Order: sequence, then C-alpha cells, then structure tokens
Amino acid sequence: MTELRTLKVALLGCGNVGSQVARILLEDAGMLADRAGARLELSGIAVRNIDAPRDVELPHELFTTDAETLVKGADLVIELMGGIEPARSLILTAMRNGACVVTGNKALVALDGPTLHEEADGAGVQLSYEAAVAGAIPILRPIRDSLSGDRITRVLGIVNGTTNFILDQMDSTGAQFADALAEAQRLGYAEADPTADVEGHDAASKAAILASLSFHTRFALEDVYCEGISSVSAADIAAAKDAGFVIKLLAIAEKLEDAGAAGTAGVSVRVHPTLLPREHPMAAVRGAFNAVFIEAENAGELMFYGQGAGGAPTASAVMGDLVSAARSIVLDCPGRTETTTGQVPALPIGAAMTSYYIGLDVADQPGVLARIAQLFAEHGVSIEIMRQTIHRDAGSKVESAELRIVTHRAREAALAATVEAVKGLDVINSVTSVLRVEGV
Ligand code: NAP
Repeated sequence: MTELRTLKVALLGCGNVGSQVARILLEDAGMLADRAGARLELSGIAVRNIDAPRDVELPHELFTTDAETLVKGADLVIELMGGIEPARSLILTAMRNGACVVTGNKALVALDGPTLHEEADGAGVQLSYEAAVAGAIPILRPIRDSLSGDRITRVLGIVNGTTNFILDQMDSTGAQFADALAEAQRLGYAEADPTADVEGHDAASKAAILASLSFHTRFALEDVYCEGISSVSAADIAAAKDAGFVIKLLAIAEKLEDAGAAGTAGVSVRVHPTLLPREHPMAAVRGAFNAVFIEAENAGELMFYGQGAGGAPTASAVMGDLVSAARSIVLDCPGRTETTTGQVPALPIGAAMTSYYIGLDVADQPGVLARIAQLFAEHGVSIEIMRQTIHRDAGSKVESAELRIVTHRAREAALAATVEAVKGLDVINSVTSVLRVEGV
C-alpha cells in the first residue's frame, strides 16, 4: 500500500466556525485522509489571543498570533477570521506561496472577488468559499459544477437566517419589527448591532456571489440593489397574510433578455422584502433556516434547504471545500474555479421585472375603482387582483375603504411611476404599503 502524503493545513481564526473546523480535522483525521487521498495535518491556528477560552478543547501548542509565518508554511489555508484586513492580505500571501485557500468570508469575496480569483488563477491554486453563502447548504458547487451544462435563468435565496427568523416571528405572532428583533437578539440569532443583517447588507454580499456564479460574470456589491426589513410593519405582514402571502427577505438574481442598453440581455441582482404566495416552496422556510431556489432551462426548478449559519453546520461546508482542494493538490489538477465569459451587464432596479402589491386607503366614492384602474392602464401596468374592504363605524356608516391590488409582472420603473401617480389622486387618503411580489 502506498504511503499517503501529508498536507499542512493552516487555520486562521478559531471562533464559532474555526473551532468546529479544528475539531473535525483532529477527530475525523482518518476519514478525511481516506476522502482526500492525503493526510490533512493541522499545522497551526492563528488567533488574536492564544489564551482566550475556546468552544472546543484544542492542544495549546497549535495556537499562534503569527498568522503570516503559519500561512507561508501551509499547503492549504482556511481563513475564518472574517473582516477585510488582514484576511485579504493573508489569503493573497497564501496563494502566492502556492497554497489552496478555503474561506467563509462573504464580505471579502463580494468586495474583492476579482482580485482573489485572478491571484488564484495565476498561482494555479483553488480558491473556494462554499461556506460564504447559506452556511451548510451546498449551493455554490451545484451552481458552478453540477449546473455548468445548463443555463440558469433565476435564483431566489433566503440567505440570511436572522431576517428570516424576525419575519417569521412577525408572521406567526403578529409582533412588531422591534419586538421580533429583540427576541432574535435574546436567542442569539441577531447581533447586538444588527445593521448588516436587517438592512440587507449581508444578503447583498451573498446575492453578488450567487449572481456571479450563476451568470458567469463578476458582479460587485455595488451592482446589487438593496433594501432591508426594518421598515416592514406588523400591518404589512397582516395585510400580506390576509391576501395569502408571506413576506421574506429575498436575494434575487435574474436574467432578463431585453432589458439592457439597446435591448440586450442583463441581470437584475437585488435584495428586498418580497411577498411570496403561501403555497410557494420558499414560503415554508421557517425560523433561521436558509434556502435557495434555482430555475434553469433544462433542470427546471431546484430547491436547496438547510442551516445557513452555526459553527458545526458552516464547518461542514468548509470541510467539503478543504477535501476538494486537497484532492486537487494530490492529483496536481487545480481545475477551473469559475468562468467569467458571460459578460452580461448588471441592470438598474428600474429595469427589474416584478409584480407589486399595493395597499390603498381610499375615499368611498362612486367611480374610485375605475379611476385607479385607468391610471394603471395608462402606465402599461395590468392589474391581476383588486380587492376592496369597506370599514364601517358602529352606526354602519362607511368610514373608509381599503383597496388591495396585485399587479402582473411589469418593469419596476413603470410600477414605481404608477404608485407615484396614484398618490396624486384626490380620492386616495394614503398608500398603506407597496411591496414587491414574486412567485405568482
Ligand atoms: P468569530 O467567532 O468572530 O471568530 C473569529 C476568529 O478569528 C477568532 O478566533 C479571532 O481570534 C480570529 N481573528 C479575528 N481577527 C484576527 C486577526 N486580526 N488576527 C488573528 N486572528 C483573528 O467568527 P465566526 O463566526 O467563526 O466567522 C468566521 C468567518 O466565517 C466570517 O467570515 C463569517 O462571515 C463566516 N461565516 C460564519 C458563519 C457563522 O455561522 N458564524 C456562517 C457562514 C460564514 P480571537 O479568538 O483570539 O479573538
């Protein structure tokens, strides 16, 4: 039997995810050697404070604060420190020294993916980041490899567990946003500063990564239109529920054939609260779970579901990348990590195709519905559903009328212009909600 070679693995960071990766590397060394075709030896763990308490008991001599030296002696580097620097410089140093890199750092990949990929391609090493999108869910490899012989047309992702938990709480208990956020913080699903999650920035990083791999074009964070969930009210949730919808924060990447300049194809990449029919498969994604729904020309509809965060689940995705990178070293075949020959431009939000749900408080006068319908028609927006509810006082006098409209798919710019025009009608008391709708 031939002796397996040994590959040195440097781990940068030993927090929630890093500590679980270290545990698996030490506990499952035999299994990993079988799968990788090489022994994966944990050569060291770089942290800020070598005496800090850890979630997992690990040999003290593995810890160092000298990440640079650790990286230079490694065949494989796992970056789980987070943040931009020094993570970025250490990854570049690792690749220049011939090491394959695995990272879970979505912020860095979304911000500076092109530089990292160029360096990886130039050095002939693998750069992989399955853990950066939707934690444990294998989604980037299926998009990059399994669907490489197909054409993806649309991706819908629930890729932030914190916001899904908050929206699910609001939906199931009727809570206001602030109360649902406080509950998420109490249970450890939301950070003390929840901005990156609730304002959609974390989901936007993941949307850029999903769009880049799905449409073979490098999309940057600034290509992603982003709206968070902090302005979603209990009244929005209740109205959505009443109309048969659930509100989810979706990351959407969609190819539109005649939406770019001069009628060329483009990709709309966006993150915003979205109404989904309650019977849509993504509507069943509850609590802090994640899911990604893909539509492809030949495969049709696919859905991937699982835990989007957490130490051990995320470590599972990291280990998959690590074994794959180790195999590439053993076989001396780094392979192509991604292709960027698609060259489709990112579209502005106004070019997106979507449906709108519009809630209106209107005067109860004859002809109101006709005037509103006429305005929609003038803007080229067709109405799919229009429902009126009359509110009466104790003496059965009409107090106001509530109108709920769901449109057919139309250009976002036309829908936004329609809403603006509706606001100008003298029969409108107020526009109570405007939300985008998918899956109808
Ligand atoms: P974490 O718990 O905050 O751990 C970060 C670790 O990195 C700590 O051990 C810290 O050292 C070390 N570190 C930070 N800055 C350093 C520096 N300048 N030099 C040396 N070491 C440094 O983070 P995490 O939750 O495990 O997340 C790690 C990465 O995975 C992030 O990019 C995150 O976005 C990504 N990710 C996390 C999850 C999740 O569920 N947590 C899911 C998907 C992706 P000390 O311990 O000494 O402070």
